[in-house]
Amino acid sequence: MKTKIQQTFLLFLIAFNGLAKLPEKVIILTFDDAIASQSTNTAKILNEYGFGATFFVCEFPPNFDTDKENYMTWEQIKELSDMGFEIGNHTRTHVNITKISDDSLISELEYIDSKCRKYNIEVPSTFAYPGYSNDSLSINVLRQKKYWYARAGGGRPYNIEKDDPFLLPSYDIAGTDTSKVYRAIRTASQGNVVILTIHGVPDNVHPWVNTPPELFKEYMDYLKKNNYTVWSLKTLHDNLYSNLNR
Ligand SMILES: [Zn+2]
Repeated sequence: MKTKIQQTFLLFLIAFNGLAKLPEKVIILTFDDAIASQSTNTAKILNEYGFGATFFVCEFPPNFDTDKENYMTWEQIKELSDMGFEIGNHTRTHVNITKISDDSLISELEYIDSKCRKYNIEVPSTFAYPGYSNDSLSINVLRQKKYWYARAGGGRPYNIEKDDPFLLPSYDIAGTDTSKVYRAIRTASQGNVVILTIHGVPDNVHPWVNTPPELFKEYMDYLKKNNYTVWSLKTLHDNLYSNLNR
């Protein structure tokens, strides 16, 4: 477990070694909840644009095992991994992790790890808080488990020099308010990485977090035309930390 001093020193190193070498406008795409359209629709669109992304998977109860019209199979999750996308941990049951014991949180995390091992998927190093809920106890567990990042909400960019990697802020882009999404995207600047939280494109089981496919395509078009760099969290991590050794 990293001490606070080690963490601060690491942030200092990143600020002076990694930051200057990051592209100016970095967008991180994160997709939650293992929604089937992410496999059948989203991944193909991302491939067309050459964009990276992190897919935070869980086995959303109670219908994950039976409703394969709306939720991905593990074979589909494996396909995403084989296509080069990152698979992240979103707990087994999408539980509010501030309401469970450390041991229960660990078994929620390890269940997803064991599924990944079974399907020959890289074991996750990034995490997303279900419902954005977190507290210092759950963050301690994630630190002990040696995650690199944990994504929360908050609607602002991730300041690489100042923000705690276990409280990554993100913007939720669901809905039809496109100006909200473009405003979020435009907050990306040197050292301020914009992380977008996306659910299904479309999301038929959770309509309150639906992103219409035509709008999603429009956003991806905008990112391409305006020369944004679009990565997974893993690629952000690899760039920041490999720069430390250059
Ligand atoms: Zn979720």
